[in-house]
Amino acid sequence: MQIKDIQTQLGVTADGIWGEKSKQAMRSAMRDGKVIKITENISLNELLASNTASRLGLDNMPDGKVLQNLIDSAIKLFQPAREILGKPIRISSGYRSPKLNAKIGGAKNSAHLYGFAMDFVCPEVGNTKQVLKKLTDGLKAKGIKFDQAIIEYPTSPNSWIHLGYKHPSGTQRGQVFRIG
Ligand SMILES: [Zn+2]
Repeated sequence: MQIKDIQTQLGVTADGIWGEKSKQAMRSAMRDGKVIKITENISLNELLASNTASRLGLDNMPDGKVLQNLIDSAIKLFQPAREILGKPIRISSGYRSPKLNAKIGGAKNSAHLYGFAMDFVCPEVGNTKQVLKKLTDGLKAKGIKFDQAIIEYPTSPNSWIHLGYKHPSGTQRGQVFRIG
C-alpha cells in the first residue's frame, strides 16, 4: 500500500503526489463514509477522524510526508498490533494537525503530529492494562519494533493506549510505561 494505491481507491490520478485534489477527495470520502483502507483492518479514515476537529471545524488533512508516515505506521505496527490483539480496536486519535494538537493540549513534539502514533482501546480483550500486556508480549515475541506503548490514565474508565511507531526523529525506543 502506497500513496498511489490510496489515490486509486479515491478515484483520483494515481501519481503518488498528495496534492489538493487528493486531499479534497479524501475529505469527501470521510464525509460520505467511504472507507479508504491502508491495511486489512486499518483505514485512513480512522487515522484522520477527530471529534474535536469536526466540532471546531478544523481541517485535519495531512501532507504527503505525514501520509507516508501513517501508511508506514499502519503496515509496520498498527496492523500487526491489531493481529496480536485478535479483536477490533477503536482508534480515538491518529494524525493531529498542529492546530488540532494545540487545541487538545497534546505534547509539543507529539508523534501524532507526524503520523507516527495512534490512541486506541480494545474492549473485547479487556481493560487497557490487559490490552497493553497482550500487545507488548506479542510485539516482543514477534520482534516487532515500536517507539512507545503507553497506558494513559489506567484507573480512569476513559483510559486508552498510545502506540507510537517512531519518535519524530525516526528512532524506536521500545518504551513501555503509564501516565496518570
Ligand atoms: Zn497518543
